[in-house]
Amino acid sequence: MLLSNKYPFLTNYFTEAIRSKNRALPQSILFYGNDIESQYTLATEIARLLNCKSTGEDNCDCLNCKWIRENTHPAVLTISKTDNKPDDDDSKTVISIKQSQMIKEMLLSESEFHRVFIFCDRDENGKPSGLNPVNFQAETANSLLKVIEEPQPGVTFIFLARYIEDLLSTIISRSQCFFVPSFELHDYKYDCISAIFTNYYEFSRQDVFNVSQKLNDLTKEYSSTEILDSIQNYVLNVLKSNPKETVFIKHIKYIEDAKLQAKLGMRAINIFDELCLKLIR
Ligand SMILES: [Zn+2]
Repeated sequence: MLLSNKYPFLTNYFTEAIRSKNRALPQSILFYGNDIESQYTLATEIARLLNCKSTGEDNCDCLNCKWIRENTHPAVLTISKTDNKPDDDDSKTVISIKQSQMIKEMLLSESEFHRVFIFCDRDENGKPSGLNPVNFQAETANSLLKVIEEPQPGVTFIFLARYIEDLLSTIISRSQCFFVPSFELHDYKYDCISAIFTNYYEFSRQDVFNVSQKLNDLTKEYSSTEILDSIQNYVLNVLKSNPKETVFIKHIKYIEDAKLQAKLGMRAINIFDELCLKLIR
């Protein structure tokens, strides 16, 4: 599926920011959410739109677009524990200070291209995965703050993470943060909650605790995580048929927060109360 079909809201936002003079593209962007591969594709799409010498169409075959698709563009660099390491850098598990220095040195010279640095990790299969305090340590992150913050035309930093909190607050505060909902989910099943939750966006505020109680009753049969997954599947389904309704992206974010609470062992009824208060307006 083309990314512009999958994430029309985000693709439109960045296309607008890149093409219009009114809305500036942020110099530092933080994507977060479960689907790091989609974040990575989104990041390379932004790099492509910034560097395309033609109209930026999805199938453009100008040299810049071609290079970016092949991951060989000289100014669009993935920065990870395995990508773009200087020769004398023998670190293998982290983004290193030497990589940070390399970036700073690159920025001292002019470039005919729009430079994009995509910061992420790689899993054992080489697929993009999220930054965290282990693979992107404070010392390295802090060494980049100055270049991230100082306005430099033609430079964009993009950070990919599962949770926003996986990055240092100093990076978060200098970046514009975007939640990227995951579409990679399971089987889109939501049978267990459909009787309770279908068309929840039409419910009224006084239904909140009633719905929450019904969800809680399901915990006799299902785990909180299964129930939350089903709610998420349902909302993803709604989002798929209403791709421009950005309120549903926010809802998916709330559900992911609730899943984290479930993982931390919070009581189901409290999780459902809080979630229903956010989803049912
Ligand atoms: Zn192009």
